[in-house]
Amino acid sequence: MLCVTDRTCPAGWKMFSCSCYLLSSVRGFWSTGRQDCRERGAHLVIINSLEEQKFFSTFTEEGSMSWIGLTDIDTEGTWKWIDGTPLTLSYWRRGQPDNGGGDPQWGEEDCAQFYTGSKTLNNWNDVLCDYPLKWTCEKNADV
Ligand code: CA
Ligand code: CA
Repeated sequence: MLCVTDRTCPAGWKMFSCSCYLLSSVRGFWSTGRQDCRERGAHLVIINSLEEQKFFSTFTEEGSMSWIGLTDIDTEGTWKWIDGTPLTLSYWRRGQPDNGGGDPQWGEEDCAQFYTGSKTLNNWNDVLCDYPLKWTCEKNADV
């Protein structure tokens, strides 16, 4: 995962390994974030290593919540990254994903949020996709 070649990120994006990351300034539904990232030639953040999970825990402000590119909207309980890859490495909060726990107040929870805590690495939660949150776009750094 180390980026050995010289690469750069656009202004305002933060580099980690060979990727660039941008936190949105506004809030929107998960689908809004997905579309915004597409328009930037990027995708909602995909976390596929412990190193990236650790980096991302410091990238987002403590106590904040934001969308990541993970959903089980196609098949309930089958989580997939936005690029179609299945979820193999995961950092769910304790008791999550719970699909709302059957409480109608939360509805069907099919999109994943990153809930930045103080120390824990286990900070993902599934929530209603139509919930207003910030999101993070990720794309490959330019060579
Ligand atoms: Ca679900
Ligand atoms: Ca949940």
